[in-house]
Amino acid sequence: MTRRVDIGGIVIGGGAPIVVQSMTNTPTADIAATVAQVGRLVEAGCEIVRVAVPDAAAAAALPAIRKAISIPLVADIHFDHRLALAAIEAGVNKLRLNPGNITDAAKVAEVAEAAAQARIPIRVGANSGSLAPSYLDAHGRASVAGMVESALHEIRLLEWQKFTNIVVSLKATDVRMTIDAYRAIAREVDYPLHVGITEAGTVWEGAIRSAVGLGILLAEGLGDTVRVSLAGDPVEEVKAAYEILRSLGLRQRGLDLHVCPTCGRTGIDLAAIAGEVRKALADIADPVKVALMGCVVNGLGEVKDADVGLVGSKGQGSIYVDGEVVAKAVPEAELATEIVRAVRARLGRGTIADRNHA
Ligand code: SF4
Repeated sequence: MTRRVDIGGIVIGGGAPIVVQSMTNTPTADIAATVAQVGRLVEAGCEIVRVAVPDAAAAAALPAIRKAISIPLVADIHFDHRLALAAIEAGVNKLRLNPGNITDAAKVAEVAEAAAQARIPIRVGANSGSLAPSYLDAHGRASVAGMVESALHEIRLLEWQKFTNIVVSLKATDVRMTIDAYRAIAREVDYPLHVGITEAGTVWEGAIRSAVGLGILLAEGLGDTVRVSLAGDPVEEVKAAYEILRSLGLRQRGLDLHVCPTCGRTGIDLAAIAGEVRKALADIADPVKVALMGCVVNGLGEVKDADVGLVGSKGQGSIYVDGEVVAKAVPEAELATEIVRAVRARLGRGTIADRNHA
């Protein structure tokens, strides 16, 4: 069991629910754009947000961002420990320090002292792409041992300052390396682990790589907070994170959509209906399981296990709520609308009878 660390009121570690994080990709100095993006992330379920602090202008924006957002704010610091000090002064709830580029013991000590006074944690965030040269192997490449040693060195520097309010991450682009690095560090320290696959890619390949890596780690009980790193809109990171956590029964949020793969028996455009349903229910935060099935073969069993279900047939389908049929022979063109209505009714945001008065 890892230690518990409080990040602006959100607890990670020590058996607390696994927390979903993301990172903005707006210029942090653009306060309005950054706050707006954080707002979209919060709507999607993001619980902690990190912003890059590459320069003094970004650090200067932190107080206004901190004031305007509703979730804990993490400052991402590389190279310049003075930016870490500025971020602490600005009231951020956590720092991420890269042990690959802030290695000077005196500077780390200065940051640790300021973070201790502010009572905020520091994430020691090692990354395979930015290890200090002394931690690269004989061929100049990152290795599991190098990543772990780099992180441990920074952890020891903090501990020498009696600073133990620590979170650790060891991210690599290589999924196996990431898994092995987390397994190794978990044998060495009991600080909470922020887990992720770095530079995973755009949404498609990045989500798959992250699901493979994080899935294995989380199934082994490793990971207290997750970030799925994807190029593009960070809202997709949050959605992917919840899907991974939901797949392992670790967190539930919003639409839990199950759709049969379709086959030669399918008599409706099920993929199109599923797409419409997903889009229409993107705003839902309460957990709801929806099973959309093309026919009775597996359909009758699956809808019994869902809050709302569809069993299709040729050009039409039957809708189920809590395993009971509520509408039979609904024409294909109306199925998506009726399913969405049934889900909202199930969640208490309207009633199934609304369709009779629409
Ligand atoms: S549920 Fe029916 S339509 Fe869907 S894949 Fe199975 S057999 Fe095919």
